Amino acid sequence: MKQNFELKGKCACGNVKYKITEKPLFTQACHCNDCKVLTGSSYVVNSSVLENSFFLTEGKVSSTKLVAGSGKTCRFFFCNRCGVIVYADYDSAIGRLTLRTKTLENAYMFPPQAHIFIKDKDPWLNLSENQNCYETMYDPDKTWPEENLKRYKEYLKTIK
Ligand SMILES: [Zn+2]
Ligand SMILES: [Zn+2]
Repeated sequence: MKQNFELKGKCACGNVKYKITEKPLFTQACHCNDCKVLTGSSYVVNSSVLENSFFLTEGKVSSTKLVAGSGKTCRFFFCNRCGVIVYADYDSAIGRLTLRTKTLENAYMFPPQAHIFIKDKDPWLNLSENQNCYETMYDPDKTWPEENLKRYKEYLKTIK
């Protein structure tokens, strides 16, 4: 069953445009020190999407490979005009791409469902008590909404 979904996104200068054709699987805020340097901010908000639901529709991206906190590598894709990172491909996330949530239109629709690497959180940043916080990483099997976990696992079967 394919839902009729489409959401657009773009970089800061508008050179790179993309769309996703399925809702993100999960959105999370990462407070790790790597994400701070990458964004120049206290945390990043990322949305995980199935790789087959992501389409670059305009412009060109360049990429660079970095080692993530997990020790696995990650390739970051950025606009070759304004340099804004639009998405990333983590080796640890099979079949998924990690979008910079705030490059999506109406990004407010996707608040973080978890805050990770709270151990590195800036001490002056106070999260309300009802946030789903983890010292480091969580187990997706226990954290993701069941429906999205199922959607991801169904997709994994098709790419093996
Ligand atoms: Zn740009
Ligand atoms: Zn991080």
